[in-house]
Amino acid sequence: MTGPLTVRAAWAAEATQAARAVEQLPGWLGGTHMPRRPGWTCDTCPATDTPWPCSPALVRLSEHFVRDPAGLAAYLGALDAAAAVDRPDALRCELRRGRVR
Ligand SMILES: [Zn+2]
Repeated sequence: MTGPLTVRAAWAAEATQAARAVEQLPGWLGGTHMPRRPGWTCDTCPATDTPWPCSPALVRLSEHFVRDPAGLAAYLGALDAAAAVDRPDALRCELRRGRVR
């Protein structure tokens, strides 16, 4: 029997999912259009300040999750958590929209 979920346990689980999601990126993106951390800009797109995920990265990830859109949303949420760790000064929604530099 397990006890109630604590905030600390939830944060730990989110951190684990975020780390796992980042580790999977090179395989799913073929090593290109990867996030350049900690700013979360694309390392491949010609414009050096292209927010990540850029369009090519989103297309590749969407292809991987073509039969699992909920899985894609969960995966992007885990990456969003990783971005929030790298950029604690930024709101997650702003990171996602590439509005924070
Ligand atoms: Zn790119």
